[in-house]
Amino acid sequence: MKRIAVVGASLAGLSAARALRAQGFDGELAVVGDESRRPYDRPPLSKEFLAGTMTEADLALEDSDDDELRLNWMLGAAATGLDAHTGTVELADGSRISADGIVIATGSRARRWPGSDGLAGVHVIRTIDDAAALRADLQAGARLVVIGAGFIGAEVASTARKLGLDVTVVEAAPTPLAGPLGAQLGAIVAQAHSDNGTTLICGIGVDGLTGDGRVTGVDLADGRHLPADVVVVGIGGVPNIEWLQGSGLELGNGVICGAGGETSVPNVVAVGDCAAWYESATGGAHRVEHWTGALERPAIAVATLLAGGLHQGTPAKPPYFWSDQYGSRIQFAGIARPGDEITIEEGDCAQRSFLATYRRDGRLVAVLGVDQTRLFTRWRRQLCSVPATA
Ligand SMILES: Cc1cc2nc3c(=O)[nH]c(=O)nc-3n(C[C@H](O)[C@H](O)[C@H](O)COP(=O)(O)OP(=O)(O)OC[C@H]3O[C@@H](n4cnc5c(N)ncnc54)[C@H](O)[C@@H]3O)c2cc1C
Repeated sequence: MKRIAVVGASLAGLSAARALRAQGFDGELAVVGDESRRPYDRPPLSKEFLAGTMTEADLALEDSDDDELRLNWMLGAAATGLDAHTGTVELADGSRISADGIVIATGSRARRWPGSDGLAGVHVIRTIDDAAALRADLQAGARLVVIGAGFIGAEVASTARKLGLDVTVVEAAPTPLAGPLGAQLGAIVAQAHSDNGTTLICGIGVDGLTGDGRVTGVDLADGRHLPADVVVVGIGGVPNIEWLQGSGLELGNGVICGAGGETSVPNVVAVGDCAAWYESATGGAHRVEHWTGALERPAIAVATLLAGGLHQGTPAKPPYFWSDQYGSRIQFAGIARPGDEITIEEGDCAQRSFLATYRRDGRLVAVLGVDQTRLFTRWRRQLCSVPATA
């Protein structure tokens, strides 16, 4: 291959570019990104950056070693189309770039509340601009309603409490975090909200937002109205794959990939939040929207790409994420399912400092740690050593 284009200039794209050079690719390497900024780190956007204890400069993902990568940065340039078979990427300004290999790393975006565009005081959080706009609205004493008690919603609630806001979190499911952690442990972890003065309302959907020009509140499905000065919508992410319609690639909830990032076309691989790799633990495609996957998996995908679309056999580690809420570190690895046998291996749920394991047919399938970082590292290593089967 003489020319490779990486589309998406964030963590997964930069990791792919680094891996390409580390694996000996010496040709032209273009990195196309629709944001005008160089790659930056997103996890602090709901934590330290939102709290004002980290600056934009602190978010930079590149370091001095990256000067050696010889990348052709094409920033502020959205890809609008791909012909996967010819390796032609079309850009918003009508220009085209051709490459022998393509790495798709266009990530995901925050799902918005329908009809809320243009309503001041309603926020999502995905980019630096999103976080800066939200921070400007987080004034002590203001009433914040967070829709969705997932990790990002919980982190925003935690940061806003620290800044002195009156915070309510609304979650449609009966318990928060039931998807990733299961209802039992999700409920325990979510106890942190009420312990820190956040009101948590579960099992009730949101009917709509009120306000004319600026949001004034949130209507709940049970008829209640929550007055609000600021609303954060934290209801998940949508993969940025629309530009790939008609490209020849198989698309679903993400770019459908094999276990090595290979797509349905040999010269194209996909990585990071936009990619749904085959996960042997579930026997199907599974989109992982976590930082560590976007950092580590591109090395596997690049090896696949350089081998002509053949997965070289290195298995991806089980999905892993961390979340910082109310001064606690939550870490989770693996994929849990309802019915898994849960054991508290160490610590105390009441104190919210514990290590829990999930087993299926006696096999370790997932690990949760709350404020147990060293123990978690040990258990995660053990989880990685267990061959995953569906
Ligand atoms: C607020 C927040 C907090 C988070 N906290 C945690 C955490 O605590 N722990 C954790 O494990 N994970 C966390 N994450 C998730 C983690 O940041 C993501 O998994 C990671 O950023 C994924 O990297 P990516 O490169 O795949 O995608 P992204 O970071 O989404 O980057 C994709 C890039 O591609 C660009 N792009 C999109 N479409 C196009 C196009 N057509 N043409 C060109 N460019 C395009 C996008 O604008 C973006 O710049 C958090 C995410 C957010 C938003």
